[in-house]
Amino acid sequence: MHFQRITLVHYHELGLKGHNRATFEKRLMRNLEVLLEDAPVHEITRISGRVLVVYDAAAGADAPAKAAQLIARVPGVARVSCGFASERNMDDICEAAHQALGEAGDFCTWKVVGRRNHTDFPIDSMQINQIVGEHLCGLFPDKKVKMKGADVEVHVEVVQGMAYVYAQTMRGVGGLPVGTAGKVVCLLSSGIDSPVAMWRMARRGATCIAVHFSGRPQTASTSEYLSDDICRVLEEFGGVARMYVVPFGDYQREIAMRVPPALRIVIYRRFMMRIAERIARREGAKALVTGESLGQVASQTLDNLAATSDSVKMQIFRPLIGCDKLEIIEDAKKLGTFEISSQDAPDCCTLFMPRAPETHAKLRDVYDAEADLIFDEWSDEIMDALEVHDYRCPQSYFGKKAKEN
Ligand code: ATP
Ligand code: MG
Repeated sequence: MHFQRITLVHYHELGLKGHNRATFEKRLMRNLEVLLEDAPVHEITRISGRVLVVYDAAAGADAPAKAAQLIARVPGVARVSCGFASERNMDDICEAAHQALGEAGDFCTWKVVGRRNHTDFPIDSMQINQIVGEHLCGLFPDKKVKMKGADVEVHVEVVQGMAYVYAQTMRGVGGLPVGTAGKVVCLLSSGIDSPVAMWRMARRGATCIAVHFSGRPQTASTSEYLSDDICRVLEEFGGVARMYVVPFGDYQREIAMRVPPALRIVIYRRFMMRIAERIARREGAKALVTGESLGQVASQTLDNLAATSDSVKMQIFRPLIGCDKLEIIEDAKKLGTFEISSQDAPDCCTLFMPRAPETHAKLRDVYDAEADLIFDEWSDEIMDALEVHDYRCPQSYFGKKAKEN
């Protein structure tokens, strides 16, 4: 018997009430539609607290598995299950359960978890467990039923008009769908930390705009290519909408020549923040985001963080402030950006570095050092010279179909 392959997308309903919940669900469905545009998907709909993805009849078995890997990385997704759609009769359901358990890979113990969402189906959950359980016992005689902690659970969900059966399930990243929390501007270097910071904001539902400061024309453009590669990783699950590249080398050179060496880094950072804030205003973003963590390097002492924050009015988020480097590396590996970030690239931060940076910058000294710098004039020039890369983000992308029309 041939059953249509499906994926059920589960999300946490915790804290989702009334209007919030409808916005969340609509957003998640829309995001999945855009992100799965290249997958052989027939339809995406909502069924009682889950999103249902139905594949094209001609799609092979590997298509849903591949799509599920992607869905699991999409913010707002708590769990992803792959299985079959079945008619609402126990014969078909039992056969679908047989096929689902057959594809479950290596296991020793199993159990059936039935759920009836509609009382218009005469057989209740307990009876579903019994009937399907008995059927499977006969087909898998050397496997054992285990009620607690079974290796595989065969889920049978009976909803209005249909039943869904699956034995394969994996955890999603959780969080909230991108586009439910407004827009932020993330300062993205090609280093290890800032991609992780950006990912954390995307996972909380923010639409992320990256800003990368390149050392060009004083350095090569390597860091720009790496940052673009990083954005392409985040793009897969809607984690970045756009990246602005700022050719910053000449301004850094000017700053390096005019301020005391020890204060260079703090002053580069303050100027970077100002540019990022102007971009944020233009974009309608309401916060700046960095990958700083307390004490990690000289520029990340409390005094220097304060001196950096002092340069702008907009709120600055530092999602990694309390993280250990090892935790950040682990996250970067999971995210898929670690290898890209581990490549060497001279960016604006390696350019004109002082030998002994100030670790406790005092604002008065900083103001004195900045007195001769023409930040306003420079930032006007920079705003005119910004380079823009756009990514496929559900918030700003209307799909191939829209483009063709
Ligand atoms: P990262 O691994 O993110 O580069 P880091 O540990 O190297 O961080 P710093 O180089 O001090 O630390 O940078 C601190 C933060 O400043 C970065 O996380 C990033 O948000 C921002 N930043 C630094 N350099 C750049 C850059 N070239 N372009 C954009 N943002 C930058
Ligand atoms: Mg860095």
